[in-house]
Amino acid sequence: MLCMLCNGLTSLEKRCPECGRHLIDAGLLQDYYDNYSAYLPQDIYADGYRCSSELFCVHLFTCPQGHYDVTFKVKRIEEERLMD
Ligand SMILES: [Zn+2]
Ligand SMILES: [Zn+2]
Repeated sequence: MLCMLCNGLTSLEKRCPECGRHLIDAGLLQDYYDNYSAYLPQDIYADGYRCSSELFCVHLFTCPQGHYDVTFKVKRIEEERLMD
């Protein structure tokens, strides 16, 4: 199972409700928390992991101006389906 976003096969076009700029894919939530885990309380860290599963990959999108951030669950697809 793979995530289309992680593999660069698709992109999400979302805009900040405040300034209308494109939200930046801040990467996998797991990566985000790994990088900053030292600074976050453990319960938030654990939550991030619960969101992600074999069926969904969780991405964090943020406004480049810092107005807004949101997480999206991206449904993973089976690799074989890419060959069709
Ligand atoms: Zn992903
Ligand atoms: Zn903004």
